[in-house]
Amino acid sequence: MNTSHVIAPALIQLKGVGRTYSTGAAEVHALMGVDLTIQAGEMIAIMGASGSGKSTLMNLLGCLDVPSQGVLRVDGVDVNALGLDDLARLRRERFGFIFQRYHLIKEQSALANVAMPAIYAGMPVVVRDALARDLLSRLGLADRLTHRPNELSGGQQQRVSIARALMNGGEIILADEPTGALDSRSGRDMLALLLELNQQGHTVILVTHDATVATHAPRVIELEDGRVVRDSGWPEARQRAIYQARSVQSDAPTISALKPAGQVRDAIHMAWVALTRHRLRTLLSTLGIAVGIAAVVAVIALSQAMRSSLEGTLRGFLSNKLMVSMGHASLAPGAQAKSFSEEDVLALSALAQVQSVRPKYEAYVTARQGNRSDNLAVLGLRPGDMALEGYALQRGRGLSALDAQMRNQVIVLNPNAVTQFFVGGDDPLGKTLMLGELPFQVVGVSGVAASNNATANWQTTGFVPDATMVMKVLGSKDVTQLFVHMKPGTDPGALQAQVTQTLTRRHGAQDFSVFNQEDQFRQVGKATEMMALVLAAIASISLLVGGVGVMNMMLVAVSERTAEIGIRMAVGARPTDVQIQFLIEAIVLCGVGGLLGVFMSWGAIGIINLFKPDLQAGMSALGVGLAFAVSSAMGLGFGFVPARQAARLSPVVALARE
Ligand code: ADP
Ligand code: MG
Repeated sequence: MNTSHVIAPALIQLKGVGRTYSTGAAEVHALMGVDLTIQAGEMIAIMGASGSGKSTLMNLLGCLDVPSQGVLRVDGVDVNALGLDDLARLRRERFGFIFQRYHLIKEQSALANVAMPAIYAGMPVVVRDALARDLLSRLGLADRLTHRPNELSGGQQQRVSIARALMNGGEIILADEPTGALDSRSGRDMLALLLELNQQGHTVILVTHDATVATHAPRVIELEDGRVVRDSGWPEARQRAIYQARSVQSDAPTISALKPAGQVRDAIHMAWVALTRHRLRTLLSTLGIAVGIAAVVAVIALSQAMRSSLEGTLRGFLSNKLMVSMGHASLAPGAQAKSFSEEDVLALSALAQVQSVRPKYEAYVTARQGNRSDNLAVLGLRPGDMALEGYALQRGRGLSALDAQMRNQVIVLNPNAVTQFFVGGDDPLGKTLMLGELPFQVVGVSGVAASNNATANWQTTGFVPDATMVMKVLGSKDVTQLFVHMKPGTDPGALQAQVTQTLTRRHGAQDFSVFNQEDQFRQVGKATEMMALVLAAIASISLLVGGVGVMNMMLVAVSERTAEIGIRMAVGARPTDVQIQFLIEAIVLCGVGGLLGVFMSWGAIGIINLFKPDLQAGMSALGVGLAFAVSSAMGLGFGFVPARQAARLSPVVALARE
């Protein structure tokens, strides 16, 4: 069989290929009108002076870059017609790169560097580690697997990069001045290796200055000022071997694709490795997120606790009653609102769902005891009302029905009033207190109000029988405020309507306002909700600052790791792979920050509960879940710009950076 006449597209074919760089105003024609045909199995040395376009040509051959003019075909496919992802796939599946300065990832072991291209080919970790170990052993580096590049000699580093080039098959090996940084001995070893690989069937294209190397290569191409000035061509005698080599290559085992979960796990692992490289920097960025998350979670937990405590207070205070006050917003200016008379009270008491109606008898009078005189809030109460108002009796006796009947001038004082009028621990019981010109006998001392009437605690207050209040202190039964206590199970809205109707009929107009507890609740609820929102907004700012910190760190990481990004792209990472990697790094960073933040807020809430046990602040599962969701979303949000920046790098430009 005569294989020399097999019709198949050339492995690589260039027709009129040019590459023009535009630097500011000037245009540099690095390559011009290059025509080349490269068959599978060839071994080619590219020579030429510095600046003649050798690297530019290598980048084009390896699909790291595309021509500005002309056509470059790989297996008959025009690379200018391929998208970035397809170019990445081509590099991954067909090419292996060897660079003058090795371009290994500094922070990774020899093994990890070699295995890296297989990550993007979707090879499971066990398989790729075994393969990488095998390749390194074959290159004599079996005892250097865990060494970092800076712990290896130049020759060893270059062998690591050869192993990396072979990881995904390395059908076409491109070596740009592979011996340039090596001593002559290592350089010779290196060339021997490349020749051996060529004999095994790999197509090898290398750039070299060394004329003796050129004598080893069957085909030499020489460049001058971006043009091919000499091409020795391929000796006919070796073409048979070429086609055999090609069929050997196509028998290479196909790589089983990794499931997406495995790819994400790899990306998370890579993110973890990258983040633990700069521990302090990572810790500080994490702390920024943690403090923000802790602030938000703690503020939400605390304002929730405060709201429920406040609501509990108000429910006790406002429960099952309507408050009726003089005056109404719709009243014409200058119109006089009527106060509530005894008849009004009787009319309301007659309503079916009303338990009782209690006028609020309240006055501020000047009280005097010995040579001390001060303002005193005096409340006129029925015998049972003290408990209703939330006061317990501490000493002496309370107000009795008989007191009211007889209009007795007796008074019960709250603790503030006792300290105000009886200095030096003087026992107030049995003493006389002057309210204006009227002497009242102190018969009891109340405790502080229950928490449901906390406002009354800072007031100086005295309680007298309601009848005494009306007849002797106020001089009239007319009041400005009524409390309508409803029977259990009453609908406050319906009763509110009835009360409004009854009083409007009696007053001839609506010159009063009726508030039910829902109104009050709603107003207080609105106010506390507003406050909680403001607090959460303030806390969110610290979270935002943390996010900006993460973004900053990721931007620094992208610019620091530009060369690494270039390497990853050269071995076949798609722009999407790079983007996902940086996004996952940001998410891992923020996720760890969120976890730390939840612990911090948990501690903070614990401490607050220690000092304020009645607040009962607690963390809800919802809050924790939300904190995680928010911090992960922040990673996504603040990682987006840096990740996109990384993904948009051109592999050639990125590789040039060191
Ligand atoms: P060689 O590898 O043979 O030394 P190169 O291919 O690196 O040469 O460069 C060929 C020419 O193109 C040189 O004049 C160089 O200055 C120019 N060149 C290479 N890369 C760039 C670039 N990214 N931007 C502008 N000019 C470039
Ligand atoms: Mg060069």
